[in-house]
Amino acid sequence: MTIFDDMEAARKLGRARSQPNLEFVPFSIHSLLDDIRRRLFPDITHSVRICFVSRGPLACISYNTSHATIYVHQLLNRHDTPKSVMTLFIKHELLHLRIKPSKVEGNRRAVNHPPEFWEAEKAIAPERESAWTWIWGNFFNHLRHRPRLERIDVLPSWRRAWTMSARGVEELTRGLEGAEGMRCRTVALDFMVEVVEN
Ligand SMILES: [Zn+2]
Repeated sequence: MTIFDDMEAARKLGRARSQPNLEFVPFSIHSLLDDIRRRLFPDITHSVRICFVSRGPLACISYNTSHATIYVHQLLNRHDTPKSVMTLFIKHELLHLRIKPSKVEGNRRAVNHPPEFWEAEKAIAPERESAWTWIWGNFFNHLRHRPRLERIDVLPSWRRAWTMSARGVEELTRGLEGAEGMRCRTVALDFMVEVVEN
């Protein structure tokens, strides 16, 4: 979600990468990255790595002219993380290598997610809604969306959520008649609208 240009933050993430976390997701994030790259990003020439780290925002990418590293927060390194969530994040972060920050009317500084970024994401990521439904439906209390910083922070309480099993997208959306299901769905959609309008 974020592009790291803060050197100190980038260094800390780099250090975290040197102590990689054992992967608990039920699929290979490296194969998924390779597959998505081959299908959707043949134009990207960077060497790209991906890893889970216990710090930083929900997801981010750090890159120079030849190398890139995608960092995904450990909160999502779970046996029950849907593949759609990692698929969306990989597509999103790789898009940052293609669509660079740009000036948008009303903003003094360049924004990481100009409107064309969201258009491009929508065009290649049909899993957006279900992925965000799962994320917000399960971790609403442990995340903080910071629209101005274009970032979703993971709150220190995430470790509690990490030890509890997450609910599946179907369970979260099934009860559209139930108040809880409605709340989750609304949260996911609100978030998407907010992002799209940024
Ligand atoms: Zn982003």
